[in-house]
Amino acid sequence: MKKISNYINGQLVSPQSGSYLDNYNPAEGKVYSYLPDSDSLDVAEATKAAQAAFGAWSSTPLANRAAVLLKIADLIGRDLDKLALAESIDQGKPLKLAKSMDIPRASANIRFFATAAMHVSSESHLMDEVAINYTTRTPIGVVGCISPWNLPLYLFTWKIAPALAAGCTVVAKPSELTPMTAFLFSELCIEAGLPAGVLNIVQGVGAKVGQAIVEHPTISAISFTGGTVTGKKIAATAAPMFKKLSLELGGKNPNIIFADCDFEEAISTSIQSSFSNQGEICLCGSRILVERGLYEKFLTEFVKRTNELVVGDPLEEKSRLGALVSEAHMQKVLSYIELAKQEGGKIECGGSRVVVVGRCEAGYFVAPTVITGLNQSCRTNQEEIFGPVVTIMPFDTEEEAIEFSNATAYGLSATIWTTNLKRSHRVAHKLKSGIVWVNCWLLRDLRTPFGGMKQSGVGREGGWEAMKFFTEAKNVCVKI
Ligand code: NDP
Repeated sequence: MKKISNYINGQLVSPQSGSYLDNYNPAEGKVYSYLPDSDSLDVAEATKAAQAAFGAWSSTPLANRAAVLLKIADLIGRDLDKLALAESIDQGKPLKLAKSMDIPRASANIRFFATAAMHVSSESHLMDEVAINYTTRTPIGVVGCISPWNLPLYLFTWKIAPALAAGCTVVAKPSELTPMTAFLFSELCIEAGLPAGVLNIVQGVGAKVGQAIVEHPTISAISFTGGTVTGKKIAATAAPMFKKLSLELGGKNPNIIFADCDFEEAISTSIQSSFSNQGEICLCGSRILVERGLYEKFLTEFVKRTNELVVGDPLEEKSRLGALVSEAHMQKVLSYIELAKQEGGKIECGGSRVVVVGRCEAGYFVAPTVITGLNQSCRTNQEEIFGPVVTIMPFDTEEEAIEFSNATAYGLSATIWTTNLKRSHRVAHKLKSGIVWVNCWLLRDLRTPFGGMKQSGVGREGGWEAMKFFTEAKNVCVKI
């Protein structure tokens, strides 16, 4: 069976402990490869390599840095089919989705930041006739990037690309649940000629590898995407060390449907925003709020279309939902469905595990589930489930829609469906969410700041925000 390697100092290497962990194919419920069970010794080695590489990489001309990154982006494009297959097997998502979204976006992330770095300009300020100030931005040093399992290569590259483009060197950890695409990516880095030590990938579990990255004194910034509970732990360790922190955390996103919406667009996109990637996207709209006048019609049609979604073998073209990432995660999602029932919820459709006959019989599949009859404050409507489960509830006024939307500890994203132009702006302004989509979902312009409010995160990634995060500003004041 395939053994995944770490990527340290330009080499594919075994973990120092010699131990490996099982890597599951969640659609089959079977181990299909092994990943390094790395620890702080591997992180120390990776950090040493990153530190040694920093001087040369940070002073490499921008155009040369961009050239090697663009080569990596091209190689991702060349290997799209192979990477998409690996991601589908590792995570359980439909192959079609990996091919059309995750892998192309991974390549786009690298291309965007490789070229963006060449267009950064610095500012100067004339202070009356007394002095000129100018600001320089220099790469911060060795940084740690820790990513989750739901969009493995996409979120991995979303972090490392701006760091590398800015001139930092990186120690990165993908999720233990989905290590394969980052491993294949390290092979592409070698092929593209990325200098040794510039990017180091240490595979393993969060408690050992992630924690060691956060604790390492040489690592001066942490860019993390994952759950809010893990984010809190990371902040508790990193803040007293005065590390720069960017935390992209969980969500419980509202999807607000006003009666004057374009019904067809609202319904078809809401099906996607509820169940894409089995609902395992931090930006999925898991709380659907529908204006009362449209509620019955929306619910009937939404349930009908949910029932039509094919849950099945991720490698089959017709499958719209694949497997959840792990057995533990499936059990967590199922336990929330039970909780919803205890809280008085009505299961309108779905509500249970699905057995997919054949190769995937032991896989971790859950039927797309729609729940009604719950109030806004119950746990089902407050906690992140991160699976194919949505609640639908009615609202009476615009104020109530805003109040319900903002009534969780999270504030990652929101969607509004309305044809009333003034209302769309008014409501968007009042929502406490880092991104608000009006009459669309998941459109991402990489130039815009991205991140959550409240417990959905601290800091902003994307565009200049990410480039800034990985640099330190210095002001020089010159008397004239
Ligand atoms: P986790 O928080 O469990 O894990 C995220 C990463 O952190 C993994 O690589 C994990 O390692 C690692 N980790 C775990 N413990 C520690 C620790 N003590 N120190 C350092 N690193 C650690 O999240 P999931 O992987 O379960 O991802 C799902 C979550 O991510 C959801 O809450 C989702 O909303 C959120 N998310 C947020 C996004 C955003 O942009 N805001 C985007 C995508 C997802 P390992 O798992 O290998 O043990």
